[in-house]
Amino acid sequence: MKQTSNATKGRKTAVNKNSASSKTQQNRTSSRQGSASEKSSPRANSSSNNGSRTPSASQKNSNQQGSNHQGSFQGESHLEKFFLDQLQDIYYAEQKILQNLPKMAEAATTNELKEAFEDHLHQTQRHVKRLEQVFKTLNQKPEGKKCEAIEGIAREVENIIGETEEGTMTRDAALIIAAQKVEHYEIATYGGLVQLAITMQLHDAADLLDKTLVEEEDTDALLTEIAENDINLQAEHEGGQNESGEENNQEDEDVDEESPNL
Ligand code: FE
Ligand code: FE
Repeated sequence: MKQTSNATKGRKTAVNKNSASSKTQQNRTSSRQGSASEKSSPRANSSSNNGSRTPSASQKNSNQQGSNHQGSFQGESHLEKFFLDQLQDIYYAEQKILQNLPKMAEAATTNELKEAFEDHLHQTQRHVKRLEQVFKTLNQKPEGKKCEAIEGIAREVENIIGETEEGTMTRDAALIIAAQKVEHYEIATYGGLVQLAITMQLHDAADLLDKTLVEEEDTDALLTEIAENDINLQAEHEGGQNESGEENNQEDEDVDEESPNL
């Protein structure tokens, strides 16, 4: 079964054909908030952005506001307080992800997925440092605030590891979906924060947050690629017993087309 639930599915061709850096530029706008004019059709940009370089957060800011003026952050307005609150949320979330990724890498069956989790662990260490830089640009102390969303997904990961058999592709398929839930949470948060920073003319913060947003989007696309290359197909044929107690290895043509795959 194709992994239709992956929001980034449409991007996989680009992932196959391009280097990481060009891939980034081609795909980066597909999962994020657009400018005011893009908002009426937030996904429209993903297919029309063929190879053209997406402007950096500060370039966009300059275009939209007609100025490179650097706004000052007082932390007093409702929007500034909300911005800070969301920074604290994602700062907490990134640290939780740092704790979880080694467990996910250890639990994964395939080397490909293990390596993807290990690589993202290193990226996540950078995400934490970048957030600390963002706090610094705002003259704020880096502080985390408990993120219930990431706590919930972390519990899902524990359940997956507990409930799937070690060494199976089903475990990898499930871990990928959990990891993509994390990435989508991060993409939503960083995408929103970049746009708020642009609105408040906080160029330095916008650029730092945008760098992390691109890496989260790339990771999401890579996970889709790994799932669809092989893991989902192999997982489909695992487990299940027929009436004689033998493992069920029915060929595709024997399966009722109407029946669900999971
Ligand atoms: Fe991250
Ligand atoms: Fe991430």
